[in-house]
Amino acid sequence: MHQLASYATHPAQSKGRHHVEPTSQVFNGIAIRNDFQRDRDRIIHCTAFRRLEYKTQVFVNHEGDLFRTRLTHSLEVAQIARGVSRALNLHEDLTEAIALAHDLGHTPFGHAGQDALNDCMHGFGGFEHNLQSIRVVDKLELRYAEFDGLNLTFELREGILKHCSIKNAKTLGDVGQRFINKTQPSLEAQVTNIADEIAYNNHDIDDGLRSGLITLEQLTQVQLFADNLKIVRAKYPSLNERRMINETIRRMINALVMDLCTQSSANIAKAKPQSLDEVRRMPALINLSASMAKQQHALKQFLHKNLYQHYKVKRMSAKADRIIRDLFQAFIADIGLLPTEFQHQAQIDKPRAVADYIAGMTDRYAIREHRRLFAVEEYL
Ligand code: MG
Repeated sequence: MHQLASYATHPAQSKGRHHVEPTSQVFNGIAIRNDFQRDRDRIIHCTAFRRLEYKTQVFVNHEGDLFRTRLTHSLEVAQIARGVSRALNLHEDLTEAIALAHDLGHTPFGHAGQDALNDCMHGFGGFEHNLQSIRVVDKLELRYAEFDGLNLTFELREGILKHCSIKNAKTLGDVGQRFINKTQPSLEAQVTNIADEIAYNNHDIDDGLRSGLITLEQLTQVQLFADNLKIVRAKYPSLNERRMINETIRRMINALVMDLCTQSSANIAKAKPQSLDEVRRMPALINLSASMAKQQHALKQFLHKNLYQHYKVKRMSAKADRIIRDLFQAFIADIGLLPTEFQHQAQIDKPRAVADYIAGMTDRYAIREHRRLFAVEEYL
């Protein structure tokens, strides 16, 4: 591994796991894995991670084989975040693990699913995917003999919890503290946060164009896209459209990543943090330059207006909304309809148990479950 900076997160200084565990196995005198690699491996092996393959990013999984899913999105976030992390001498394994775990708490059907579930949970503590990601790794994964959850390190859990209200923070113990104290997470967490945005803005352009819901011509309103498209067209005048889109998007990602590295490295050089503790007390050090942030914002607004609000996307969202509400109401009315393992939990906290069950569903599982409960002609 490359030389870690003093302000990076060092596994040896980790605040540790809730349940103390023996260190990794040693081979030829060296620990096979550091604590963050173990965290990453626990995430890759967990059930919620495999479900990401069938959860919507923007397009519902059955709409096409080539669109991003939450799984491929998470891999793209990890790819971008690792590169930036390495360039800044941060801990690449921690960055990768946060990226792979950051969306574990997402409901089926993307944001439409989350909004519907949050509405259903009104008065019962609400529903928020980011909090749910922590709940998945802390409680819901049942794989180990000695504890519930994955028993991840504090640094990994802190990185997953991107945002949180003060009210919720007070219920979360150690990982909630920074929202109360208004301090920053590790630089690895900050990198992953921005890598998430870079990944989805760019892959949503790609998926949007592929679906035909947005066009190349519309996209030329966005400066970041238009500038890079111009470079590609000048260099390869007769290139076919698919390759031209790829060449443009890879240049956009590259421009964003280079800007992020340059700006963040200048911030670090100016602030001179000597340790992770100092990083926590400083303002966020990982960010894009003001001009690039503005361009990225324009791109985001374009996607909101032209893709996420497109009537075809909204039709699917409306269907998703109905499915989630129907399922929630049916289970709340009769917990006897829940699978046995959730019935036990529902006797302790009915709305939360129902929300956990629904949030864990993949898109197609939710559709099938809806059919099993509501289609009279369906045989079980
Ligand atoms: Mg994400």
